[in-house]
Amino acid sequence: MNWIVWVIGLWFGLVCVSALIARLREQVAPDGKPRELVDAELLFAEQTFRIDAPLALSARVDRAYLLRDLVILVELKTRAAPIAYRSDVIELSAQRIAVMYATGQPVADFAYVVIRSPQSGTQVMRRVMLLSEADIVALARRRERILVGAAAPCVTASTGICRKCPFRADCRPDL
Ligand code: SF4
Repeated sequence: MNWIVWVIGLWFGLVCVSALIARLREQVAPDGKPRELVDAELLFAEQTFRIDAPLALSARVDRAYLLRDLVILVELKTRAAPIAYRSDVIELSAQRIAVMYATGQPVADFAYVVIRSPQSGTQVMRRVMLLSEADIVALARRRERILVGAAAPCVTASTGICRKCPFRADCRPDL
């Protein structure tokens, strides 16, 4: 009889240890804060920043944390694929410029994309390097030229983006 109690106790212990290890391995706290920012304090949440220079820009920040006088941006996404896309990097890079110029505070040249699975609810984080201010200004200028017909757009390499594009029927009828 005693050995049954021992086996049940051992099994229960293993389950608890596995759950604890899984928890420690989680990259993101339940509130969406990356574990790497455990010592950082929340500075902004869902706040919009507007600037007129070096370019006219309005950017909404999901989360910004302060770690040793440096602002670190976090973008929250719900998507099936645990991937940070280039569009996330562009979005965060624009937020970086908006926050820097609107607040005068230094903002890290890296950021986090926290991706929540719509199926399981699990969260993973991806650390991304941001584009420079010059690159973002150049992108914005190019967009303006494309919109007035002064430059030709390039075809994207991402068929996923094309599938959601309103110009797909004309541009990519093959999809
Ligand atoms: S379908 Fe849309 S996203 Fe894709 S290449 Fe054409 S314009 Fe760009």
